Amino acid sequence: MAAPSMGGVSLPRGNGQTVRLPRGASLTDLAERIGAQPAALVTALFHLGEMVTATQSVNDETLQLLGAEIDWDIQVVSPEDEDRELLETFDLTFGDEEGDEDDWSARPPVVTVMGHVDHGKTKLLDALRHTNVVAKEAGGITQHIGAYQIVTELDGVERPITFIDTPGHESFTAMRARGAKVTDIVVLVVAADDGVMPQTVEALNHAQAADVPIVVAVNKIDKEGANPAKIRQQLTEYGLVAEEYGGETMFVDVSATTRQGLEDLEAAVLLTADASLDLRANTEQDPQGVVIEGKLDKGRGPVATVLVQRGTLRQGDSIVAGDAYGRVRSLLDEHGNKLKEALPARPVQVVGLTSVPRAGDTFLVVEEDRTARQIADRRQARIRNAQNAQARKRISLEDLDAALKESRELNLIIKGDNSGTVEALEEALMKIEVSDDLSLRVIHRGVGGITKSDIDLALADDVIVLGFNVRAEGQATELANREGVDVRYYSVIYQAIEEIEAALKGMLKPEFEEVQLGTAEVREVFRVPRIGNVAGSLVRSGTIVRNSKARLIRDGAVVADNLSVDSLRRFKDDATEVREGYECGIGLGSFNDIKVDDVIETFELREKPRA
Ligand code: GDP
Repeated sequence: MAAPSMGGVSLPRGNGQTVRLPRGASLTDLAERIGAQPAALVTALFHLGEMVTATQSVNDETLQLLGAEIDWDIQVVSPEDEDRELLETFDLTFGDEEGDEDDWSARPPVVTVMGHVDHGKTKLLDALRHTNVVAKEAGGITQHIGAYQIVTELDGVERPITFIDTPGHESFTAMRARGAKVTDIVVLVVAADDGVMPQTVEALNHAQAADVPIVVAVNKIDKEGANPAKIRQQLTEYGLVAEEYGGETMFVDVSATTRQGLEDLEAAVLLTADASLDLRANTEQDPQGVVIEGKLDKGRGPVATVLVQRGTLRQGDSIVAGDAYGRVRSLLDEHGNKLKEALPARPVQVVGLTSVPRAGDTFLVVEEDRTARQIADRRQARIRNAQNAQARKRISLEDLDAALKESRELNLIIKGDNSGTVEALEEALMKIEVSDDLSLRVIHRGVGGITKSDIDLALADDVIVLGFNVRAEGQATELANREGVDVRYYSVIYQAIEEIEAALKGMLKPEFEEVQLGTAEVREVFRVPRIGNVAGSLVRSGTIVRNSKARLIRDGAVVADNLSVDSLRRFKDDATEVREGYECGIGLGSFNDIKVDDVIETFELREKPRA
């Protein structure tokens, strides 16, 4: 096989062979698969005009380009495809199955509440929770588990509605981004005393992009200055025309505070669902659904709130949720009641998993525990790889060699009390703008206390361990103290961000600013044997200091930069500095192009304190 040499490192040619790579793979990943040196691939790409470091995530086109060059057929596999293939190897599929017509029945709509901050999403969700006709009778106390179901009456029929109780379009979009379509209907909250705001539009765009029907809740109508008509008017510009104006969108005036209009809102949700969606699910197939929230409970271990999308989830089922697996030990509803089974659209807490899955992970029930574990293991490995690739920020490519050799990275391990906060923290941290030549890398994240194995991992690299609402466990503390691992605890996200930002700034190369010291005007030029030209000058401002940096200015233009005051004399004597108003002789080293009336400007570079 031909092995052309590039930069002295051989590059195995593929002769058209196929290599499959997950989306967002790095050159190191590719190198591993085709048995090449990562540096050789970096160089090859460099010759193709792309500067990429070995560990940086590379986009699809660039991979294709490189593939063509080295004669490998590179196939980029999306995470969804990869997972589909993984499931196929176990003869499983995620998604609707046809099944027997008789096995399908109507299911309740699943609703996400979205809208601008402070328009009342949280308050509205709280208020809706208390409208439950069934809970009223049972007198149940509801807990926040990430979703809840109420039962309301429409035309004399009791009908359930499921609300996702993690308000905001962030979670909606995050789930959708991960391929989990959870929401049937979006309730768009707009405060009647405020109006359409940026996040209102954003929420609307997200809902429309997902092709999810919208019901508008015009909230805070109890407030003075509330103008529900204005909201209707404003939203027409975004294609949401109220029914009463001949459009198709139901607008309901509500007050989360006085609870006015809540039943109308529920009715509107059901009517919209009935009119535009055919919400049915197979209750007999193997249960599947989506994780809404995951957390580590002190007493019960990993607990996940899942939304059953099809099939009927039962106690004792073998379940795999993202990279977590286990057997359903108990099913609990939002009132803390134990359930024997959960039907489609039912949010339910699952106890019995071995680790905490992430919001947006899908879950499946499988025949055997072993299958669940194998799928989870394979996913874990994949997630780890993907996260490592993705968590790397760009390194400055101004100097390719330096970027490769001298990696200036701050490595982090994030542990927290639930998957949502860990993800939120990681996301916020990755957004910190530091400088191009510094990168922040999360090498491990997870739910639960800081363990000895976290510290072991931290020891391998320069790593800071962040505990969000969690602490290090006994042995871990000891080890961390002994080995000097930096473990920091937080309970407020912004505090963590501030500190990490400060730490990053501490790692930064110092930045310098120029401080002018003095200027001198050249009155006469002396030719001094063995030294060269010396400028007989008058100090015009400040002080001329020996050894300071200098530049020469002629007619307002810089003639030479990067000079230094190599010699400084007052009459016949050496001087260390000469002040304004005095005459002196200035020698600029080997630089001799000095003329009468030139100005010598001197300065020094001082380290700039970082903001
Ligand atoms: P979110 O950011 O959209 O979740 O908004 P919140 O639910 O936190 O509500 C923001 C503020 O508006 C809080 O002070 C609520 O008490 C208040 N609020 C929410 N709904 C109403 C309402 O219907 N009437 C009045 N007067 N205040 C409300």
